[in-house]
Amino acid sequence: MSTNDILDQAFHYIHENFNRFVNEFKDLLRVPSIVGTHGVVECAKMVEEFMTSVGINVEVSSIEHKAPIVFGRLEPGSDGKTLLLYCHYDVYPVSNVHKWINDPFKAETVNGKIIARGTSDSKGNLMALLKAVESLSFALKGRPCCLKFVIGGDEEAGSPSLPQFIEENQGKLSANAAIIFDATLDEDNTPAVNLGREKPTSTEDDIVQAIIKASKTVYGTVPKIYRSVMTYPMYLISKKLGIKSLSTGCGSFNGNTHSINECITIDEFRNGIKYATSAIYFYTLE
Ligand SMILES: [Zn+2]
Repeated sequence: MSTNDILDQAFHYIHENFNRFVNEFKDLLRVPSIVGTHGVVECAKMVEEFMTSVGINVEVSSIEHKAPIVFGRLEPGSDGKTLLLYCHYDVYPVSNVHKWINDPFKAETVNGKIIARGTSDSKGNLMALLKAVESLSFALKGRPCCLKFVIGGDEEAGSPSLPQFIEENQGKLSANAAIIFDATLDEDNTPAVNLGREKPTSTEDDIVQAIIKASKTVYGTVPKIYRSVMTYPMYLISKKLGIKSLSTGCGSFNGNTHSINECITIDEFRNGIKYATSAIYFYTLE
């Protein structure tokens, strides 16, 4: 099959199954996984179930008194490149609940927007990754790509469990490149890509070329490329593991991340799944 056949089939699958994807996304949003609360434990279980359901081998690693990190592997046994994907399932605390137009954990759609804490930061990104795996697996009739997943549960508190996890699992985490899929679109609703302030990731690298192709495929334009300060997870993956990394994502630029009425539009969520699908495809299979 050609590139276009595979991506066309994956995109077709996304359209056919999109209502279910939205419902599953809402199930995830309804678990109040506010950082530092018991909700993260419940949410880690749901993330584990979603990952297992799309064929990912999952281990939930827990460091005492810290939020579980959900680690996953998809290894089809081929020699292809391995891509490490990072996201998080904890959400920022909610204040001023009375100012929200809806309960922040009810996840209702209002005027084409899903409103809930965690929609843009970062459960929309997380679901986009998982549904990308499901859609690509369908298009390739099996487990298609070498992928690893690190899904944190305390990112909103500065990822205190991540250094020890990375320290103890260096071998397991080896990969050719990483995408920290935990960001919003740029102000003109096109993807933003951060390569970090310092090298080593350069625009010539295959991971950057893959994300540029993915952006063109889904949003019809090249992404905005930045060299900004790395988030802590990106710093750890890039510097401690030495993996070429970039950060990007499909959250809503106007999504009020960390604020009242956090949201993502239905279209942004759909395009996010396609963006993740294309990025994984172009990096691992082309
Ligand atoms: Zn985040």
